Amino acid sequence: MSERPLRPDVPEPLPSSQATEGRPGIHHQALSMPVMDAGAPLPSDQDDGEEMARAERDTRKGSLTVLGLGPGEAHWLTPAAQAAIDAASDLVGYGPYLDRIAPREGQTKHASDNRVEIDRASHALRLAAEGKTVAVVSGGDPGVFAMAAAVFEALEAGDPAWLALPITIEPGITAMLASAAKTGAPLGGDFCAISLSDNLKPWEVVTARLDAVLKADFVICLYNPISKARPWQLREALALAAGIRPAETPVIFARAVGRPDESLRILTLAEAVEAATSADMATLVTIGASSTRLIARGNERPWVYTPRSVTKSPSATSQGRT
Ligand code: SAH
Repeated sequence: MSERPLRPDVPEPLPSSQATEGRPGIHHQALSMPVMDAGAPLPSDQDDGEEMARAERDTRKGSLTVLGLGPGEAHWLTPAAQAAIDAASDLVGYGPYLDRIAPREGQTKHASDNRVEIDRASHALRLAAEGKTVAVVSGGDPGVFAMAAAVFEALEAGDPAWLALPITIEPGITAMLASAAKTGAPLGGDFCAISLSDNLKPWEVVTARLDAVLKADFVICLYNPISKARPWQLREALALAAGIRPAETPVIFARAVGRPDESLRILTLAEAVEAATSADMATLVTIGASSTRLIARGNERPWVYTPRSVTKSPSATSQGRT
C-alpha cells in the first residue's frame, strides 16, 4: 500500500473554524441544510404507494458505519475501519477528524462542530435512509465517549424507518489503550474510565463515581480532563484522589498520543495535583491503583505497570486515608 490515507500530522482538537472549509476536491454540506428538498411537491394520493416503496428500497440500499480512527497514527487504524472509509459515499464527523482522511473524488464530507453530536448522528441516519453509504467518524474508538452512542440515541428518538438500516460499529484504539501501550502496562489489573466532562452529566455524578472507584482501588483513566470552559475539574479530581490514595501513586499524563506532538509524563499523585493545569483536552490522565508501580530505567522514562495479581482487599487499601 503506497498511499497513506490518514494524515497523522494534524494535531487535534482544533477549533471548529479550522475544519475542512475550502479544501480542494471536497464537497461540503452544512448540517443545517435540509437533506430533502423542502420545496418539492408532496406526493399525491396515488403516488403515495410508489413513494413509500421507493423510500423503503433506498433505506435498504443505504448503510451507516460508525468507525474509530484511533488516536492519531495511520498504522493504528484498523483495516476494517479503513475499508469503511474507502467504501463511504458520505463521511460525517467533527472537522479535524475528517481532515485526517485524504479526500477522494466522489466522496462528500459533512464536517460539523464538536458539540452537535445528536444533530450529526441524525443527519448521518437521514443520509443513510436516502440510500447513501455513510461513515460516521470518531477519534480513538467510536464507542468510548464518542459517536456510536450518539447514533443510537438519535436512532431511538428518530424516524422508525431508520430501524431498518444496517448499522455497523468498527472499533478503534481508544486513548487509554494507546497511552497504556506507550508507558508499559498500567492497565494490567482492574481499571475503569471516567469522562470528567460535565456537559452531559452533573459534576456531582463525576465525583461520586470517582470516590467509589478510588475506594475500590481501580486504575482510573480520565478522559476529557480539562477544557477552557472547565479549567478546574482535573485538579479537583486529582485532589479527591490524593485524599484516598498515597501521594506517591503513579499518575500518567499522556498527551496527543500517536501524534507528532505526543508527550508522556509520569508523575506522583502529589505532583499531578500541582501540574493539573498543564493538561489539556488532548490529554488522557491515568491514576494508578495501590499496586501500580514503576520500573526505573536510568535516564529513560520508567515503565509503569500494574501487576495482574491482587493481594489486598480494596477496603484495606484505602483504610486510614478516607
Ligand atoms: N473516542 C475517543 C475519546 C473521545 S473523548 C477515544 O476512544 O479515544 C476525548 C478525550 O479523549 C480527550 O479529551 C482526551 O482525554 C482523550 N484522547 C483522545 N485522543 C487522545 C490522544 N491521542 N492522546 C491522549 N488522549 C486522547
